[in-house]
Amino acid sequence: MSLDSLLTTTRLRTLAGSGYQRGLKYFEQGQVVECAREGETLIGLVDGTETYDVRVFAHGRQVYGQCSCPVGGPMCKHAVALALHYLAEQEGSPRSAPAPEVALADPVFATTRELSDDNADKLAALIRGAVGLFLKEHPEAARAE
Ligand SMILES: [Zn+2]
Repeated sequence: MSLDSLLTTTRLRTLAGSGYQRGLKYFEQGQVVECAREGETLIGLVDGTETYDVRVFAHGRQVYGQCSCPVGGPMCKHAVALALHYLAEQEGSPRSAPAPEVALADPVFATTRELSDDNADKLAALIRGAVGLFLKEHPEAARAE
């Protein structure tokens, strides 16, 4: 099977176990310094304690990571980072994974995405609301007139 059909975040998660979150962090922090594809193999360099030579390749119906780090296993965090970098490139956003959208309790902004948009008026309203709420709970923080 081809690398593209085998390489999914679900599979990476399963293979890497607890290393997945660390690999995700490496990827998000931009520690993948090189990523190239040769045939069904990804070849890259990933910064960690040292800079590691990392390969991710498809074999049969499985994906494997190969890395110059001492961790070993089928998929170390460096291999996860390289694979995630590649997947993000395929989706057209090589820099980082999109931040998950979280519904906010505050009604001024419906979602975190709205918060990151340029909404100066709403942001000011949110701050006013937060300050008001804070002063209600901590009246001693208000300057006495
Ligand atoms: Zn490694």
